[in-house]
Amino acid sequence: MIVAVDGPAGSGKGTIAKRIKKDLGFMNLDTGAVYRCLALEILRKKIPLENEREIIKIADEINIEIDSLGEKDVILLNEEDVSKEIRNKEVTSIVSPASSIPAVREIMVEVQRKMAKGKDVIIEGRDIGTVVFPNADIKIYLDASEEIRAKRRYEENIQNNIITTYEEVLENVKLRDYNDIHRKVGALKKADDAILIDSTNLTIDEVVNKIKKIIKDYKN
Ligand code: C5P
Repeated sequence: MIVAVDGPAGSGKGTIAKRIKKDLGFMNLDTGAVYRCLALEILRKKIPLENEREIIKIADEINIEIDSLGEKDVILLNEEDVSKEIRNKEVTSIVSPASSIPAVREIMVEVQRKMAKGKDVIIEGRDIGTVVFPNADIKIYLDASEEIRAKRRYEENIQNNIITTYEEVLENVKLRDYNDIHRKVGALKKADDAILIDSTNLTIDEVVNKIKKIIKDYKN
């Protein structure tokens, strides 16, 4: 069973997916982590974003694995644990432009399909219900106001010892959303048959319960 959850940065996809994984025994696939691995490799190899040919080559060559069996995902880039590093500011600032390259997305979409194959999975990203799994059993589009989303990411950063200001996070969230919405391939948008949940004024429990009910109703 495939549950696709799309939505902008900080809409709560990751938090919600982890709860569903814990409560219902689904695998959780964070596709943002896949693009973040690519962005990290681009930074490490010091490839300018204009050098699309080299970036496509890297996308083709890198090996990304996500071990989501434990409470926290372990993200492996060429067998190295980069779970923390992929959340840093530098990666966050280039991940959206890097993931806008159509040939990169083609490669990464296949990587994601392979990762999810044959599993009960809640898979979160930007284009899951539209491109990666257009036939997903359930599609959710999670949204929230820009300010609330930036506040959530800011608080998450503090917990993870990433030094930022709220204003800086808000600016990045706005820029990334703009980029993700306006790119030509794999743009962030609600699939026609996705259920919209606006979490601006909802608690995590309220959102989780809504999604659990949707899954339960689907199964019956
Ligand atoms: O979800 P997260 O904020 O970690 O995603 C980081 C970036 O990866 C997004 O801003 C977007 O540019 C890219 N992404 C994407 N397609 C996905 C998931 C993430 O382009 N399915």
